Amino acid sequence: MQPNVLPNVKGEYRLDFALGAQSCFKVGGNCDVVFIPADIDDLLQFLTKKPKDLAITVLGNMSNVLISDYGIRGCVIRLNNLNKTNFYNNYVEVQAGTLLSKFISDCTKHEVSCCEKLCCIPGTIGGAIFMNAGIPGFEISDVLISVSGINFFGEKKTLNQDALNMTYRNGNIPKDFIVTSARLKTFSKDTNQILAEIKELQAKRLKSQPIGQATCGSTFKNPDGAKAWELIKRAGCDKLSVGGAIVSEKHCNFLINTGNAKASDFVKLINIIKSKVLQKTGYELQEEIKKIGDKW
Ligand SMILES: Cc1cc2nc3c(=O)[nH]c(=O)nc-3n(C[C@H](O)[C@H](O)[C@H](O)COP(=O)(O)OP(=O)(O)OC[C@H]3O[C@@H](n4cnc5c(N)ncnc54)[C@H](O)[C@@H]3O)c2cc1C
Repeated sequence: MQPNVLPNVKGEYRLDFALGAQSCFKVGGNCDVVFIPADIDDLLQFLTKKPKDLAITVLGNMSNVLISDYGIRGCVIRLNNLNKTNFYNNYVEVQAGTLLSKFISDCTKHEVSCCEKLCCIPGTIGGAIFMNAGIPGFEISDVLISVSGINFFGEKKTLNQDALNMTYRNGNIPKDFIVTSARLKTFSKDTNQILAEIKELQAKRLKSQPIGQATCGSTFKNPDGAKAWELIKRAGCDKLSVGGAIVSEKHCNFLINTGNAKASDFVKLINIIKSKVLQKTGYELQEEIKKIGDKW
C-alpha cells in the first residue's frame, strides 16, 4: 500500500506489519497497514477521510483470531490508546482497547465488582463485547448497559444492551461497527473478597487449561446440551496434530502452536476434528475462533 493514500492522523501507522506473530496463536502473515488512533477524534477523522475502498478490520488483543498465512489486506485498526476507565455511582465507562486484566484490577482497587469472573480471559473490552465473552454462569452481557462506537463511515452511535440481542459467544455487534467504549454495571464489593475470588478462578484454570502456550482458548463453541471437549474426546480426536498445530493434552478443545505451525495447519486440524465429531457423535461443531484475513 502507498502511504500517501492514508489521511494525516495524530496516531500511528505501521506499514506491512507482521501482525500474525503477535496474535495468541502466533501464526499468520503481514497486514498492509495497522492504524493505532491517538484517541476517539483521531479515529473519527481517519474514518471520514480514508479512501472509500480501503478494507477495515478491527482487532483487540488477538486472543480469539486465526490470522491467514497470507495476512490481511487493507487497514487493521487497534485501539491500544483507548484504555481509560471512569467510575460513577453504580456503573463505569470503559474504553474498548482496555485489557480485561487491567480493567478488573482497576475495579478491584475501587472496591467495585463488575467483570472479575472474566479475570482469566486475555482480551480487550472491545473483543469481550464482540464475542460476549464469558465463563459458565456469567457473560459480559450480564453487566453491559450500552455500547458506544463508530461505524466504518464515521457515524457515532450508542446501542443499548437490550437492542443487541447478545447470545452465547456472540455480542451481535452490527457489521462495520467499531466498539469504542462500554457502560457496565458495578456493585460495591470488598477488595479482598474480589481478590480471593480471582485467586480461586486462576487456580482452577491452571489445573485445567494449557496456560502460557500459544493458543486462542476454546476452538469450538459448546453445542446446546453438550460440551465440545467431551465430543472431541469421544470422537478420538484428543491426540491429533497437523504440522505444528496440536490438540492440547490438558484441554482437548484448545489447539496449540508448538512453534512452527501455519494457519493452514490449524484449518486442516479444525476440519478433521469437525468431520470426525460429526461422524462419531452426530454433533456439528461450530468454531468460536474467528478466521481473519485473505485467501482461506
Ligand atoms: C488462554 C485463553 C483462554 C480463553 N478463555 C476464554 C473464556 O473462558 N471465555 C471466553 O469467552 N473467551 C475465552 N478466550 C477467548 C478470547 O480471549 C475472548 O474471545 C476475548 O474476548 C477476545 O478479545 P480480544 O480483544 O483478544 O479480541 P480479538 O481476538 O482481537 O477479536 C475477536 C473478534 O472481536 C472483534 N473485535 C475486537 N475488538 C473490537 C472492537 N473494538 N470493535 C468491534 N469488533 C472488535 C474482532 O474483529 C474479532 O472478530 C480465551 C482465550 C485464550 C487465549
